[in-house]
Amino acid sequence: MPATQHAGLADGHGRRFSYLRLSVTDRCNFRCTYCLPNGFKKQAGLAPELTVEEMARAVRAFANLGLWKLRLTGGEPTVRHDFTAITRTLAEVPGIHRLAMTTNGYRLAERAQEWRDAGLDAVNVSIDTLDPAGFARITGHDRLADVVRGIDQALEVGFDAVKVNTVLMSGLDDAEWDRIRAFVADRPVAWRFIELMRTNDNAEWQAGEAQSGDLVRTRLAREGWIAMPRKAGAGPAVDYAHPDYAGTIGLIAPYAHGFCDSCNRLRLSSRGKLHLCLFGEGGLDLRQLLQHDDQHEELIAAIRRAMPDKAAGHRLREGDSGATPHLASIGG
Ligand code: SAM
Repeated sequence: MPATQHAGLADGHGRRFSYLRLSVTDRCNFRCTYCLPNGFKKQAGLAPELTVEEMARAVRAFANLGLWKLRLTGGEPTVRHDFTAITRTLAEVPGIHRLAMTTNGYRLAERAQEWRDAGLDAVNVSIDTLDPAGFARITGHDRLADVVRGIDQALEVGFDAVKVNTVLMSGLDDAEWDRIRAFVADRPVAWRFIELMRTNDNAEWQAGEAQSGDLVRTRLAREGWIAMPRKAGAGPAVDYAHPDYAGTIGLIAPYAHGFCDSCNRLRLSSRGKLHLCLFGEGGLDLRQLLQHDDQHEELIAAIRRAMPDKAAGHRLREGDSGATPHLASIGG
């Protein structure tokens, strides 16, 4: 257990860090066109995924450095059979005040209550289209109805926040926009479009599919949606509200200038590598420092030493995705 509370983490660009994204697995059961179009392929010779104990040691160190918000991601985090135990253990780490996850939602309808009871505060669910055939085409699974049922169940069991992530691609036409508006009309969810990011595996395809966030901004402005002020600790999304809708619609625009200026997050991969940026280089292996509770101070020192290497921003606009083959490899 940490004896001392350490000063908060900052980098060389004056940014302070409150948010850790922990990938609990790089495995995924979906085959999204922009991420793992051929499905997850096991790589030979890789170290096993972090155990619950290793994750707890890592999270204790980050929490001791002032990070208070934790997101479990992947891959698909819920393919881990011990996902509920991971949630329960990490929810109890002192200093972690908000525990969220990002999921494709395939098990949410059945497990929402269990995960809520285990200490999960919020869920982000990925739905790239509300057209069932389009959903099946993008993900490789004809399961839109199950995922929507999962969202309704998540609302039912009372998560603090339920959000939907939609990657902004060429399919956003009037019919899709109308489906999304109808979805948020009576559901208090935050629907977020995310500009499609280039990774090393999707580079060529991304160039033909990517759409500017202006497409969403224009529609929202035309219909009278109003940008809401950002909450403390919030990410880079801008959410818009409208008096006729229970939910909000928002945008995350990583290609916008200044996107990285407010970066408040660090990432730990499912095999224990610290990534200072989603689009950086190989990551700093912390695993050897996650083996015993008495390595806590050494772990903290290693994290602190890494911070000056955090770049001012990603280089996506220059066509440089760093070493990232796809987002499932680090944790999107
Ligand atoms: N399996 C979970 C899921 O489906 O949400 C969590 C992992 S997934 C990598 C996290 C988020 O990253 C998803 O919302 C996904 O759509 C998004 N994503 C993956 N690749 C992306 C890309 N190239 N550009 C933008 N978003 C991407």
